[in-house]
Amino acid sequence: MKTVALHNLGCKVNGYEMDVMCQKLQQNGYNIVPFDDIADIYIINTCTVTNIADRKSRQMLHRAKKENPNAIVIAVGCYVETAKDNVSVDDAIDLAVGNNKKGQIVEIIEEFLRQKGLMGDDQKPDKTLDGMSMVDINHTNEYEQMQLGELPDHTRAYIKIQDGCNQFCTYCIIPFARGRVRSRLQGDVMTEIMQLAKEGCKEVVLTGIHIGSYGLDRGGSELLELIKKIHMITGIERIRLGSLEPRIITKEFAEGIAALPKVCPHFHLSLQSGCDATLKRMNRHYDCREFEEGVNMLRRVYDRPAITTDVIVGFPGETEDEFKETVEFLERINFYEMHVFKYSKRHGTVAEKMPDQLTEKEKAARSDVLLEMTKRQSKAYRDTFIDQDEDVLWEDEEETDGISYLVGHTKRYVKVGMPADEAKAKGIKSGDITDVHLGDYINVDTLRTFDNYSMM
Ligand code: SF4
Repeated sequence: MKTVALHNLGCKVNGYEMDVMCQKLQQNGYNIVPFDDIADIYIINTCTVTNIADRKSRQMLHRAKKENPNAIVIAVGCYVETAKDNVSVDDAIDLAVGNNKKGQIVEIIEEFLRQKGLMGDDQKPDKTLDGMSMVDINHTNEYEQMQLGELPDHTRAYIKIQDGCNQFCTYCIIPFARGRVRSRLQGDVMTEIMQLAKEGCKEVVLTGIHIGSYGLDRGGSELLELIKKIHMITGIERIRLGSLEPRIITKEFAEGIAALPKVCPHFHLSLQSGCDATLKRMNRHYDCREFEEGVNMLRRVYDRPAITTDVIVGFPGETEDEFKETVEFLERINFYEMHVFKYSKRHGTVAEKMPDQLTEKEKAARSDVLLEMTKRQSKAYRDTFIDQDEDVLWEDEEETDGISYLVGHTKRYVKVGMPADEAKAKGIKSGDITDVHLGDYINVDTLRTFDNYSMM
C-alpha cells in the first residue's frame, strides 16, 4: 500500500478539492499519512493568489523532496497553472497536475507509476504526461466533475458550485489560474448535498471562485434558484453563502433569500475600497453607491445581518484623500468583520505596472487604521447579542484560560462557547444545534452561554 501525504494552501475551493482528492486516494487503497511523515507520494495543492503564496507553494514542494528524495512529489493547482515554465524546470517536482484534472488524481498517479516502471532508473516520465495532467485552463468551458463522498468535518461542509472568474480585477491573477466561469450542474450539487445530509451534515457553505456568477455561463444567474432547491433538502438546517459581489444583492435576491429561513444572515460582500476612483483602477464592477444599496437591502430584510468584507489598502495611486474616503465609507457601513490586506504586487497583473506604488510603511500605517476600526466595530456588533437567545451549531472543543469549551457559531457567525463539562452534563455534543442564552466574553471573539443571565 502506498503512503500519501497531502498539504493544502489557499482558499476554501482548494480545500474542497483537496478533500475530494484525499477521499479518492483512500477509496483506491492509498494510505494517507501526516505531511511530516516519510511518504511515498507528496501532493501539494498549491496557491498563487500572491507572490507569497507562490513562494510558500515552492517551499512546500522542496520540503517534501527533502523529506524523502525518493518520493514522487506532485504539484497540483493554481501555482502550476501560472508558473508552468518554473514548474517544468524545478527538480523537486516529479509531476504537475492542473486545476481541471484534480478529480483524476488517482488515474494520473497510476499512469505516472506505470510509465516510471517501464523506464530505466536514469529516466523520468514527462512531468505533464503529454498533456494528460494539464488542460489549457483559459480555454475550457467544462466544469470538472468532483464530488465529496463523505463528510470531511462533523458539522459544516464547503460545497463547490462553480469555478473560474470573468472579472479580471487589475490586481488579481486568479482568472489566469482558474479560467473562465464554469458552473456545476444544479443536479450534481443537490446529489452531493443530499448524500452529506444523510451522513449528518447540518450546514453547507456554497463556495466557488466567484459564486455570484453561478449560472452565467448557461445564460443567466441561477444562484437564487439553487439556494431554493437546497433549502428543500431534509437534514440541512443552515445554508451559508461564500463571498458575493455586491451587485447580486438585488431586491429580488434579498427578498428571495430572506423568505428561506435556513439561509444564514451572514454575507461576505467583497468591497476592496470605499473610494470610487480606486475601485475603477482596480477594475471592480460596482461603485460605492451600489455597494451601499446592497448592504441597505440586506439590512431591510434581516435583523442585524452579519456583513463582512475584504479591503485592500495601499493600492497603486491611493492618495491620502482616497484613503480618507475609504475610511469614511467603512465607518458608515459598519461591518461585522473586515479582512484587511496590504496591497502586494502580483507578477503578471495590470496593477503590477501601475505608477505611484506606495511604500510598505504607508501601507502598514493605513492597515493599522483599519485594523483598529474593525476591532471596534466587531466588538460593537457582538455586544448586541449579549443577553439574547440564539441558535448555536456546536463544532469543536477549544481551551481558553485553562478551561475547555465546546464552541460553535450562531447563524450570524458569532462564536459562542459553553464549558465542556456543562455541555456534557446537558448531553450537548458537536453537530447539535441548541438554543442558548448568551452572556459576556470568554475571549476577544467568543461569547459564552449563560443560564439565567441578565444584564447588570
Ligand atoms: S472577482 Fe476579481 S479578485 Fe475575485 S477572483 Fe475574480 S478577478 Fe480575482
